[in-house]
Amino acid sequence: MRICQFDDHRLGIVNDAAVRDVTAVLGALPAQRYPFPPGDLLIAGLPRLKDALSAAPPTTPILPLSQVRLLSPVANPGKIVAAPVNYRKHLEEVREHADLHHGNAGHQEEIRRRGLFLKATSSLIGASQPVLLRHPDRRTDHEVELAVIIGKTCSAVGRDRALEYVAGYAIGLDITIRGPEERSFRKSLDTYTVLGPWLVTVDELPDASALELALEINGETRQHANTRDLILSVPELIEFASSFYSLLPGDILLTGTPEGVAPIQPGDVMRASIEGIGEMTVQVAAA
Ligand code: MN
Repeated sequence: MRICQFDDHRLGIVNDAAVRDVTAVLGALPAQRYPFPPGDLLIAGLPRLKDALSAAPPTTPILPLSQVRLLSPVANPGKIVAAPVNYRKHLEEVREHADLHHGNAGHQEEIRRRGLFLKATSSLIGASQPVLLRHPDRRTDHEVELAVIIGKTCSAVGRDRALEYVAGYAIGLDITIRGPEERSFRKSLDTYTVLGPWLVTVDELPDASALELALEINGETRQHANTRDLILSVPELIEFASSFYSLLPGDILLTGTPEGVAPIQPGDVMRASIEGIGEMTVQVAAA
């Protein structure tokens, strides 16, 4: 199942070029009062909503995909966890351009020694929303990544059981200003995390270990790789992350970008694709 959020936080199921508006299903979510529980309510509720989502009556409105405005398929993630250099060739690329990755000499180290980092949840947008460059004087790069959406709370889970806690996958863009500041600072600007175009549930994509992923800028391929070249696989990343903190429903795990990162400018059009998920076209503009 491909679950999207669109327009004014409507809920949709995507089939080819059509979106079924299943917003009414959200009425089955438990009513909430302040203080709200941590985690994303919809993602946490997916196992219970699944039957209702797939059995939506034939009377549900159907919209052309091209006419909806796609938002992030996760509205309220508690955190966005991200892996630094996690592809072998990107590691080599970073070594060659140490000046760009100023202050990050430790990039050469194994990811396990470097750890993971967090991006502000306020940086999150969906595929139909533009990336707005705030500091056009600074080099700002695209990074296409397989994004994992956590479905159930887990802590200290082993890699052998890690996939039991995954709700699904999406395409992630980890937009990054290069420079000496902390990663979380350079990567947390508003609109600098794109998640989309929808969430593909694990029953539709049970194995993410060998997916082609690519990113084009204005029709020119910049990044093209396969998730089989991840240094830490998805189960290993979940094991690693959850050995430090609990992962909650709706938490997003960006698995790292392959080689080919390069600058983006206002006016550019990014087209990102991952096998088994789909593709999305994202505009770049000045803030
Ligand atoms: Mn990244």
